[in-house]
Amino acid sequence: MEIDKIVKLVKDAVEKELNQKDNENLKRIPIEASGRHIHLSEEDAEILFGERYQFNKVKDLSQPGQYACKERVRLIGPKGIIEGVVVLGPFRGSTQVELSVTDTRILGVTPVLRESGSTKDTPGILITNGDRYLKLKEGVIVAKNHIHMTEEDSRRLNLKDKDKVKVKICGSLRPIIFEDVVVRVSDRFSLNMHIDYDEANACFLTKDSYGEIYE
Ligand SMILES: [Zn+2]
Repeated sequence: MEIDKIVKLVKDAVEKELNQKDNENLKRIPIEASGRHIHLSEEDAEILFGERYQFNKVKDLSQPGQYACKERVRLIGPKGIIEGVVVLGPFRGSTQVELSVTDTRILGVTPVLRESGSTKDTPGILITNGDRYLKLKEGVIVAKNHIHMTEEDSRRLNLKDKDKVKVKICGSLRPIIFEDVVVRVSDRFSLNMHIDYDEANACFLTKDSYGEIYE
């Protein structure tokens, strides 16, 4: 009888521990570092690559329907040039270049922090592909870090679309808490926090790193 009691106590304790672990894991947010890239409008793609040019998909990205292409472009700023900027598909309504602050320093353009899609009154840049070129009037942004999540994730994490949260990057040599992180909820998304390379380097991001909502 005594033994049974002890066995039950141990079993309950282990189960409680495991449940807690599960709950903790459910709260973990995978982190992805996005390198510099460009989204093209259909019109600008034609200017840079020719009429009805077929882009070559090389890799699906974590967000469903988004992909990296084989095609690359060159960015020419007042102070410097960046080669090999990857084109992401599919086409967007307007062309958007997403850079880190370090990239903007290299090119000599003003870093402007924006949410994706909000390109009004942002700097422009010269974009080339071989001898084809496009003088982009506006559309160069440093993307605000953000979390993509599904409706189900948002219920579990008790968040809603457009919420601003603090996220602690854990499992890193140099943990950092990011403030003002935008929550984006849609069933077209999958759970991931997107940061740029400057931010990833700042927190020594590795494959073991993950985010936690910090309250
Ligand atoms: Zn994103």
